[in-house]
Amino acid sequence: MAEKRDYYEVLGLGKSASEEEIKKAYRKLARQYHPDVNKADDAEAKFKEVKEAYDVLSDSGKRAQYDQYGHVDPNQGMGGGFSGDFGGFGDIFDMFFGGGGNRRDPNAPQRGNDLQYTMTIEFKDAVFGKETDITIPRTENCDTCNGSGAKPGTKPETCSVCHGSGQQEVVQNTPFGRMVNRRACSNCGGRGQIIREKCTTCGGNGKVKKQRKIHVRIPAGVDDGAQLRMAGEGEGGLRGGPAGDLYIIIRVKSHDFFDREGDDIYCEIPLTFAQAALGDEIEIPTLTEKVKLKIPAGTQTGTYFRLKGKGVPKLRGIGQGDQHVKVVVVTPSKLNEEQKELLRQFASLDGEFTHEHEQSFFDRMKRAFRGD
Ligand SMILES: [Zn+2]
Ligand SMILES: [Zn+2]
Repeated sequence: MAEKRDYYEVLGLGKSASEEEIKKAYRKLARQYHPDVNKADDAEAKFKEVKEAYDVLSDSGKRAQYDQYGHVDPNQGMGGGFSGDFGGFGDIFDMFFGGGGNRRDPNAPQRGNDLQYTMTIEFKDAVFGKETDITIPRTENCDTCNGSGAKPGTKPETCSVCHGSGQQEVVQNTPFGRMVNRRACSNCGGRGQIIREKCTTCGGNGKVKKQRKIHVRIPAGVDDGAQLRMAGEGEGGLRGGPAGDLYIIIRVKSHDFFDREGDDIYCEIPLTFAQAALGDEIEIPTLTEKVKLKIPAGTQTGTYFRLKGKGVPKLRGIGQGDQHVKVVVVTPSKLNEEQKELLRQFASLDGEFTHEHEQSFFDRMKRAFRGD
């Protein structure tokens, strides 16, 4: 570790320098060594040194501490000399734990980004599956320059500042000694390459936006919220890296007659009082066809009937779910005189219940009225 220079020496001042003199010296040296102005190899390090000296000497508390203890011996670690209010601890921790750790070769192939597309489909398309085309906007490698960004016939050049690494080392003097910090190369923006003549098609970034038509096969039995992965249909990779994937999120529209729960289908069928009481054979729509369903005499409202295998094909595995039919007895609301008269006759004959089920139902109600 290099010997740390005295802060007063860095600023070219004596120990009794006034605040004004410190400020003046700092301004002059900062202008002289600012990396934007001074292209010498050590300019940045010098600039940092000057800045650090100024940060300490311009603060009366830190200056007093410095005058008393001098530079902190780096071997003393965090415990010695300056207390926690030095202000630079956050940066120093970053230097220890960040920065250099995630060094990546900027010229390595890089996988393209994944894309997501939400697709809304009809209820029956989810049940039976569907093939369709979608158009998605995506970034692809430029055909003109094959993704290099350089004008055809030219090549990107290796950056002379970072020699292709895309990283710059910044040496900083701190109270704990010299710290080496790595950051993206300012000359090439971290790419490691410089493009002298840019491809005119893509403007030098090697990528173009395209509207791409993609054929999608939706499998039978897919449900709302399902996700289809289409490998390699995402955005183009960098420097020969593979393309990302396309994820299609399926949204299924509701149906006005069928409801779906997993592989099972639910529906409701109205029955007249007469059908429910006397029994009947009725037609039920299923997803594929009409089927006949026998309603036994004395069917109560809310009863479910199961049509086996009339549900949704299983997405994984063999077979299909079932269709569940709920019957709802509809009470007539518009009756003519003759119908009313017949119902009155029916009611007068209806004093005794013969069915066990009804008997127990009315018994329970009577007990409830009695408060049992
Ligand atoms: Zn191009
Ligand atoms: Zn560079």
